[in-house]
Amino acid sequence: MEAEVTPSRYCAHPQTGYVSVSVAPRVQGVALQQICPCGSGTSYDACCGRLHRGAALAETPEELMRSRYAAYAVGDTDYVFRTWHPRTRPEDLSPHPGRTWTGLSILGAGEDWVEFVASYDVGGVAGEQRERSRFEQRAGRWVYVDGEFE
Ligand SMILES: [Zn+2]
Repeated sequence: MEAEVTPSRYCAHPQTGYVSVSVAPRVQGVALQQICPCGSGTSYDACCGRLHRGAALAETPEELMRSRYAAYAVGDTDYVFRTWHPRTRPEDLSPHPGRTWTGLSILGAGEDWVEFVASYDVGGVAGEQRERSRFEQRAGRWVYVDGEFE
């Protein structure tokens, strides 16, 4: 654990007290060589980590969507915030307590939309979020606008 980590960034498992690695702070050395949470099969560092640390910009809505999912998974709420359209983004982006993101499936993607299923675990109970997200380009950067949920 890194010294600057505040307890509020952790979500202890409600039953086991286990602190999930997936909500560890951003830019954590330990996670850099791990497989990226977005499911690309490459390392976090070479995949969404690049975008999270500002070394690259998402070139497509799908790439942005994947990186936003990965940001939720690693607890990088700053990235989630800055890739959210200012018109639609909520003020409070604190993570759901006890929720661990466990997988992402892209169902389809177009010019300005991505449909996906994100899997999670809350207290040992698996769940899914299915969404068709809309994206817009602002000053050359893709941002998330909103989504339709099922
Ligand atoms: Zn990734």
